[in-house]
Amino acid sequence: MVDNEDRSEGAGTEELDTAGATDEQKEVADPDEAYCTNCGRTINEAAELCPHCGVRQAGADASGRSGTKNELSERRQYELESIANKSAIGGALLGCFFGPVGYIYVGKWGWALLDILTIHYFFLGFLLVPLHILKVISDAKSDLRTAGVGGY
Ligand SMILES: [Zn+2]
Repeated sequence: MVDNEDRSEGAGTEELDTAGATDEQKEVADPDEAYCTNCGRTINEAAELCPHCGVRQAGADASGRSGTKNELSERRQYELESIANKSAIGGALLGCFFGPVGYIYVGKWGWALLDILTIHYFFLGFLLVPLHILKVISDAKSDLRTAGVGGY
């Protein structure tokens, strides 16, 4: 922009830059405010329901807050299904006797690595890992149920 000219004259370029930044921010109205999709009145952006007319706001859940009946992204659903379809007994047995192999079985490579690094959870892994794997599988199933995916 005007940086080079200003610098040659020794003017306070940095002050100019910050002034520009605040101008940009002003263009965005109050970031916490949005407009109701039904009645158009100003509401808090985080609000799921319009306080004026009570209509649920589309996209209120889309910002990543753990929604109630959100649809899963395809990728996430694929991951959850691939975990949920594993045999709980098989996973638990693998976790009990072969530690990290059980984690890899349910796709949890990070936990497998941690299990190795902690020497199979300091020798308690034969108990902890199967329980954890059972929980991983049952959590995946419950996430799928919550999202309304059939068959779980
Ligand atoms: Zn409204």
